[in-house]
Amino acid sequence: MERIRLTFLGTGTSFGIPVVGCDCSVCTSTDIRDRRSRHGALVSWESGGRFLVDTPPELRLQLLREGIDSVDAVWFTHGHADHLHGIDDLRIFSLRSRRSLPVWAPADTVPLLLSRFRYIFDGGVRPQQGTSKPELDLRTVDPETPEEILGRTVMPLPVPHGAMQPLGFRVGDVGYVTDAKTLPDRTMERLAGVRLLVLNALWRGRPHPTHFNVEEAVAMAERIGARRTYLTHLTHRLSHQELVDTLPPGVHPARDGLTVELGPDGIRESGTGEEGGNEHFGPFQSLPPTPEEGASP
Ligand SMILES: [Zn+2]
Ligand SMILES: [Zn+2]
Ligand SMILES: [Zn+2]
Repeated sequence: MERIRLTFLGTGTSFGIPVVGCDCSVCTSTDIRDRRSRHGALVSWESGGRFLVDTPPELRLQLLREGIDSVDAVWFTHGHADHLHGIDDLRIFSLRSRRSLPVWAPADTVPLLLSRFRYIFDGGVRPQQGTSKPELDLRTVDPETPEEILGRTVMPLPVPHGAMQPLGFRVGDVGYVTDAKTLPDRTMERLAGVRLLVLNALWRGRPHPTHFNVEEAVAMAERIGARRTYLTHLTHRLSHQELVDTLPPGVHPARDGLTVELGPDGIRESGTGEEGGNEHFGPFQSLPPTPEEGASP
């Protein structure tokens, strides 16, 4: 099997951590792992291809932090602002490649994209001479049909989230779900046999109407039984170290900047977390440009 990497760009809930004006112990923590930007992730393959998950408000800062200089496809999980409103930061990619960047979105996210970002998606709106806008090729995902993206099969994972139906995805042995309240049967079936799993979790205790809490996410993780499960979309009610100390074996808190590599020889973590040692991965390269794609001067 091909080596695949998952990088957590942002692992915080919609306010981001620290929350502006909050003096709680997590927001004032000196542990860098307690700093969580808004939700985003990147999947990359050893032979090339970078698949971005969501465009959070801190996208540019996240890409710079991780040394990501290109992406080849974007998957929008759903239309909430914390997952979407950094979309203009995609502009550099279409500007540089001089071609549209393909983006996939659930059906209920498409009208939100069209209304909030008309300047991007309305073909009749052209940027003034000397300026630019993101050139995006929007495709609607059928939740029941696998998509071929960058030469890989991406299986949508529909989940309920209040009035919305976000789409997680499975690619190879990686399952990724965020902003879920539960995992419907068909999504559970599609996750069977994953080795690396990501689930959202807000806090401990009081259930939330549209998100897993930690207890619910852990129960789902144990049912699915992936070799490693990471929790993301975390609020300031959770300290990273406390999660490390208390989560059951096989379940771990994600953190901004963590990269997990899945290969035929097992799973490795990058960074300085105590779970996985101190691997430092160089970035996988992106797909080589096709001849007509060229490079802008
Ligand atoms: Zn706080
Ligand atoms: Zn949401
Ligand atoms: Zn969210």
